[in-house]
Amino acid sequence: MQNGNKKIIINDLEYADDIVLTNNGLDNATKKFKEIVKLSKKFAGLNINFDKTKCMQINKGTWKISKTTEDDCNKMNWKNICQDCKRAMPGFLNLLIHKKRWCQKTKNTRSRIGTLADKLVKKEKKKQIMNRLPKIQVNKKEIENVYEYIYLGTLFTADADQDADIENRIKKK
Ligand SMILES: [Zn+2]
Repeated sequence: MQNGNKKIIINDLEYADDIVLTNNGLDNATKKFKEIVKLSKKFAGLNINFDKTKCMQINKGTWKISKTTEDDCNKMNWKNICQDCKRAMPGFLNLLIHKKRWCQKTKNTRSRIGTLADKLVKKEKKKQIMNRLPKIQVNKKEIENVYEYIYLGTLFTADADQDADIENRIKKK
């Protein structure tokens, strides 16, 4: 794209109306996105949908998500509380299963790892990390930072790890 003597180069993966733009650093991404917003409007009369646009800041080896604790679960404000052990459960059905299978019979020894509660806590932790990161800002509007994004069936994650994608593919089969 060219605007006067300013030229921007886009390294892109393109499919239909879904485009992934890769950039080195948030400043470059902001600059490029700003130009795209301006030029799309100027040359095609198109407005970029800010709500549908997401930013993923890939950082290999960072964003370590700590193990889910009971404290984490309590912070989630789940309304389904087991009256016997005071554990909070994400859904009513989870509470029923917990009561029948885990709380009474096994004296509540089942860990949270791998449960729905674990998944929801991890998701929330990722969201909080992403919210704390600096954001792309254009025309006083912000682009949401996301931890994961599915593009053409591939799950990309901000830790540049392939485990999540592989897991996702296995689940689909
Ligand atoms: Zn219980």
